[in-house]
Amino acid sequence: MARIEARIEDRLAQNRYVVDAGRPHIRVVPHTIPSPVLRALVHACPAGCYAETDRGTVEVAPDGCMECGTCRVLTQATGEVEWKWPRGGYGVLFKFG
Ligand code: SF4
Repeated sequence: MARIEARIEDRLAQNRYVVDAGRPHIRVVPHTIPSPVLRALVHACPAGCYAETDRGTVEVAPDGCMECGTCRVLTQATGEVEWKWPRGGYGVLFKFG
């Protein structure tokens, strides 16, 4: 029997996300120059939630966040990210199997 391999992107696309409109669970503290750690989140976030703006700052759009905590841990020392769990019923809904 042939083994079916799925790309990680295809498997992650099966997850669902319930947006809590107007209540993002992650916020980047206003800044003018991001630390190297904050800038690294543009590439480190597995959900691609972080992006660099035209002004050179870093912003987050937490829709699609997988709640892995990477950004929370990496910015613990700099305090550039405020992170809390989404409210019950919101956030990522993982599809297993
Ligand atoms: S918790 Fe993980 S998936 Fe969510 S924004 Fe942070 S790094 Fe990205």
